[in-house]
Amino acid sequence: MDCLFCKIIQGDIPSKKVFENERVLAFHDIQPAAPVHILIIPKKHIPTMNEVTDEDDALMVELFATARQLAKELNIDESGYRLVNNCNREGGQVVYHLHLHLLGGHQMKSLAG
Ligand code: C5P
Repeated sequence: MDCLFCKIIQGDIPSKKVFENERVLAFHDIQPAAPVHILIIPKKHIPTMNEVTDEDDALMVELFATARQLAKELNIDESGYRLVNNCNREGGQVVYHLHLHLLGGHQMKSLAG
């Protein structure tokens, strides 16, 4: 499969891993948009949020639990952080393998403007 993140999971493309188990991988974004910028991905190839099904309920919970745990380990839990999923073209998705961006380490603007 021609998927960049599947290649990272397989170890064909290197990444700076911060967490891995049988179902989830987390690594530093290669082009950080914040002092802390981690990508949290399922090892299962799910292209976008639109393809998530009820069968993935436990996996989605695990992605969020990983984000919570990493925020604590990277010491941004108290100061705060942003979790982002970009879906499809207008959502700004570039890599079509579901992922959460964990962003923190500096002040972000409210989306409410
Ligand atoms: O949500 P979106 O698809 O736009 O995000 C993809 C992210 O994957 C980007 O932030 C990009 O910097 C990151 N990336 C990476 N390592 C690669 C290729 C892309 O961390 N080898």
